[in-house]
Amino acid sequence: MTLAHPAYGQLRQVTPTAAVLLADNPGKMTLDGTNTWILRAPGSDEVVVVDPGPKDKKHLDAVAASGTVVLVLVTHRHGDHTDGLKRFHKKTGAPIRAFSDEFVHGSTALVDGEVIDAAGLKITVLATPGHTADSLSFELDDAILTGDTILGRGTTVLDPKDGTLADYLASLDRLEAAGAGKIALPGHGAEVADTAEVARMYRKHRFERLEQIKAALWVLGQDAKPMKVVKHVYADVDKKLWPAARMSVKAQLTYLRES
Ligand SMILES: [Zn+2]
Repeated sequence: MTLAHPAYGQLRQVTPTAAVLLADNPGKMTLDGTNTWILRAPGSDEVVVVDPGPKDKKHLDAVAASGTVVLVLVTHRHGDHTDGLKRFHKKTGAPIRAFSDEFVHGSTALVDGEVIDAAGLKITVLATPGHTADSLSFELDDAILTGDTILGRGTTVLDPKDGTLADYLASLDRLEAAGAGKIALPGHGAEVADTAEVARMYRKHRFERLEQIKAALWVLGQDAKPMKVVKHVYADVDKKLWPAARMSVKAQLTYLRES
């Protein structure tokens, strides 16, 4: 029987070359938990692991047991994807590669456009900033690992520390261009049939929100503070969601005021 998402503790084969192990760390920002992706050419014992996930011994042991780990790739810096890295590196000895040096162990940082040859696969590195400045996607022949740039459901939160809407929209363009007919394998949630289509959907959603905010600024004044805009645009939404909405509105105001 084929497994469906979420299948905690079970290796779930999603494409001929990609399987997922879902970490048991569900939460507001992680949906059902972090997806750890395990990539290998059919018949290969060697595997590439994308995002070992949180520091959870049981999860990391299960990931390590999935094959001979020859390489670890990191989609971005957030702890739900990287907290287990050191422990995993110690256990497997596999080199770890990421966009920023701070996560690299026994190798070099990843570069946009780089093509990696490992576990019988060709993996192309795509820089897709916006969720964070260091966000990467990884392109395979039939799928794209999208990290938190595109999720299995809901929308991506832009990290106020270094995520920007301008970067994010450019990354959606890039994923649309690369992703026609390729399955999206996200950092959280279930896979999505077509990366290009979901990139278009995400962009449409962002532009609708931008239009709402522009309309609010006409009423409230062009220099209205983020929370004032939230109260106006999200008037019908539960107040508990306003702090999260404020982050998103802030990113959009920056975008509108800088473009
Ligand atoms: Zn995440």
